[in-house]
Amino acid sequence: MHKALERQLIRCYGSLQNVPEEQRVFLEQVNKTYTESDQEYSLMERALDISSKELTEANVLLREEKKEIEKKVKDRTKELSQEKSKLNRIAQNMNTGAILFNKNGQVTFINNKAREIIKFDDMDDSLVLEKLFNKFEGFPVEEYLERCMAGETLKIPEAEVSHLIFELLFQSLLISDGEDPTSFGHLIWIRDITEEKLLDRSKSELVAIASHQLRTPLTVTKGNVEMLLDESFGKLNDEQREVLAQTAESNENLISLVNQMLDITKIEKGNLYLNLKAVSLDVILEKIVDDLSVYAKTHNVLLKFDKPKVMPKVLADNDRLYQVFQNLIENAIQYCHNDKDGVCPVNISVGLNPDKINIKISDLGIGIPKQEQEKIFGMFYRASNAVNLISSRTGLGLYIVKSIVELFGGTIRFESEENNGTTFYIELPVVK
Ligand code: ADP
Repeated sequence: MHKALERQLIRCYGSLQNVPEEQRVFLEQVNKTYTESDQEYSLMERALDISSKELTEANVLLREEKKEIEKKVKDRTKELSQEKSKLNRIAQNMNTGAILFNKNGQVTFINNKAREIIKFDDMDDSLVLEKLFNKFEGFPVEEYLERCMAGETLKIPEAEVSHLIFELLFQSLLISDGEDPTSFGHLIWIRDITEEKLLDRSKSELVAIASHQLRTPLTVTKGNVEMLLDESFGKLNDEQREVLAQTAESNENLISLVNQMLDITKIEKGNLYLNLKAVSLDVILEKIVDDLSVYAKTHNVLLKFDKPKVMPKVLADNDRLYQVFQNLIENAIQYCHNDKDGVCPVNISVGLNPDKINIKISDLGIGIPKQEQEKIFGMFYRASNAVNLISSRTGLGLYIVKSIVELFGGTIRFESEENNGTTFYIELPVVK
């Protein structure tokens, strides 16, 4: 029996034996209930005791973990701030000027080189733009910055100011976390390119002068050899004729190299003279096919021009347009190989749409190896299979062709597979 109940009964009845039967049964029932609830109570107490212990342990663990996380965050923050200050130091001391803008076009960073270039020693970054626009007055800096903020990447390749030459690059800074990239700022890089440009200029000047000087003696040689071959100075035997023919060919190659070098210096200086007129491209293509027919025959090439019924005119320079297609068709002829059925076809076709003319020149020749294709429009580049086939060429033709086509507002590209031929696609704007 519960101790408290026992004590009360003894106090009332003297001893437990004196308790009347009915009350005893009732009290035993009460006692049973008490004891059970006592047990439950102690069970609950034990459970509470356990969970409070667990809570304390968990609390300790949590506190340790919290401390560890706090330490990690502190270390990482320190690391990041060291990296940031390292980056900042690098950016500050770079030899290229850098000005960073946020999305709203406000300057958030300007490095030492940019300060030096635009002569800005103020601490108030809001005046940077004014200084920048003043420094490059006459160049489209403001317009390019606005277009860059709208997502374009732009370049002013040569901005010449007070005897110095700068290159300005306008770039958006993009982040992409799995989705479409979004811009978080804009950057203007300003590079002083004075030295390299002056070196380039003196190189092209040297090439221009040398080429000019070479032109006269080469033309004289050409004339003299032609007179000898015409037998103006007397009969030739076969041996003499052959030697003179070789001299004439080498002289022609040299003349063509000199002309290409002169074209390149003009293209680079931006003063390639173009006499732009409405030109009939079909007339030009027909003439080239005619002029190259003998050359094609010696290579066993069948030249075919699908002349369209209607042919709108293009705005171009007649001679330069001739030069472009002569070069492309000559390439198609000389890089053909006719080992299948003896004849190698070269097809020229023209497609029209309202604003453009598309010219296609395709051959079934040696093709251009995949890994070399991106270099093919570069200066002096010749693919390995072409060098093995003909060694006397320069690799300057396509560079000039592309520059001229672009000066006409057109485009040029090609598709090619080694040993399976090449197709060049040229697109030119038509005259309205
Ligand atoms: P060149 O013909 O004097 O070498 P180009 O600048 O005209 O110089 O051409 C550059 C290179 O492009 C060539 O040497 C050749 O490797 C490649 N090429 C151009 N046209 C063709 C063509 N139709 N088929 C195969 N290769 C070509």
